[in-house]
Amino acid sequence: KEALVTALSLKHNFHLAKNLILFLGDGMGVSTVTATRILKGQLEGKPGEETVLTMDTFPNLALSKTYNVNMQMPDSAATATAYLCGVKATYGTLGLSATARRGQCSTEKNNEVHSVLHRARAAGKSVGIVTTTRVQHASPGGNYAHTSERNWYSDAAQPADALAGGCKDIAYQLVHNTDINVILGGGRQYMLPNNITDPEYAKQTGDRLDNTNLIDEWLKNKKNAKYVWNKAQLDAVDEDTTEYLMGLFEPKDTRYELERNAETDPSLTEMVEKAIKILSKNPKGFYLFVEDNEAKKALYEALTSERDTMSVVTADHSHVFSFGSSSPRGNPVLGLSTKIGTDKKYFTTALYGNGPGFAIDSNGTRPDININITSKYIKICATGYTQQSAVPLSSETHGSEDVAIFAKGPMSHLFHGVQEQSYIAHAMAYAACIDPTPRQNKTNPLNLIVNTNK
Ligand SMILES: [Zn+2]
Repeated sequence: KEALVTALSLKHNFHLAKNLILFLGDGMGVSTVTATRILKGQLEGKPGEETVLTMDTFPNLALSKTYNVNMQMPDSAATATAYLCGVKATYGTLGLSATARRGQCSTEKNNEVHSVLHRARAAGKSVGIVTTTRVQHASPGGNYAHTSERNWYSDAAQPADALAGGCKDIAYQLVHNTDINVILGGGRQYMLPNNITDPEYAKQTGDRLDNTNLIDEWLKNKKNAKYVWNKAQLDAVDEDTTEYLMGLFEPKDTRYELERNAETDPSLTEMVEKAIKILSKNPKGFYLFVEDNEAKKALYEALTSERDTMSVVTADHSHVFSFGSSSPRGNPVLGLSTKIGTDKKYFTTALYGNGPGFAIDSNGTRPDININITSKYIKICATGYTQQSAVPLSSETHGSEDVAIFAKGPMSHLFHGVQEQSYIAHAMAYAACIDPTPRQNKTNPLNLIVNTNK
């Protein structure tokens, strides 16, 4: 009844979105959202199903069709092109229209498409990228890079024809394409030449063959710019006097939250807070892209206002993660079904359609799921046990079904129904009156009433 009262009192918010925040859960399918919700509650000692995630409170939802132009099962690069730039793309390509062919440098030229982040910067907003992956990964990379091969993190990964053709690696493009104010995540090694030792790991060096230190390049000619590579340095950054901040905390991806060294590596929340404090000084507002592969979205609510900030949470694609079978209320989310298979053996309620969990023992039968194995796994939650899968693969694949879009703030009611994934970029740009889809409130056929933020 309370939910009905809330629904009846919902009003569309026609304010101008001064700020845009896109939270991207890589691979965060709906089954993952459900499992995350239950796990969160169970870690707090509750049954779990009734738990409310922050994104569960967002009033507007849509489904996003994630397929690529040439693939039913999408990849993270072509999907990033869709939700960031507004066009469907070719599998494995980033920031290019579908005319481009994967790995073919010659198809890049004149096929570049630009992200909402890029357009927001051109409109005078401050912009930022925060991620738990390398900042050159496909999802953050779609904000600034145009490449026919998503794996060209540095020039060391590029084949001779791409180098000869003048196609630039993603780390190079991070520094040269878009004037980004805040860049926080992993990916140091792609920025440093291969004769420079990593500051944290003495046995590792940079990756680059062009003898260029891209961190120095980025700092060059910028006022009030800082580079940091550990948590203490990040904590010491004064938001009031810093206009540009690059923080690269690992050579590749940052570590999972459970494995993170809290002394040396900042948490995602700490990175997001620092970013918002720097970006929100701009009176014209900001665009922030946040990638989180652990579906934990919370805590920065206090830093923004729903009145002038559009927040969107979505996924690039799903995984072949399935979650079901007979289980009573409060059943451990990583635990056993109360059913027993026709082979008289136990199984977990979380299973994969394919992946490394496939196993047939020497008798040609499925290994039993020992209760001790799963209860040990439940305690440690992230390591030690691989759920069974139907088909053997070294790692599980992406899923092909729709993912959810959760939205709140100005114009968030644009997120409704079943939409192509590329719609996300158009709706976000429209909400903030960003080119090329300016909101024309005077000639608006829908006669929308648009207020500015008074
Ligand atoms: Zn992905």
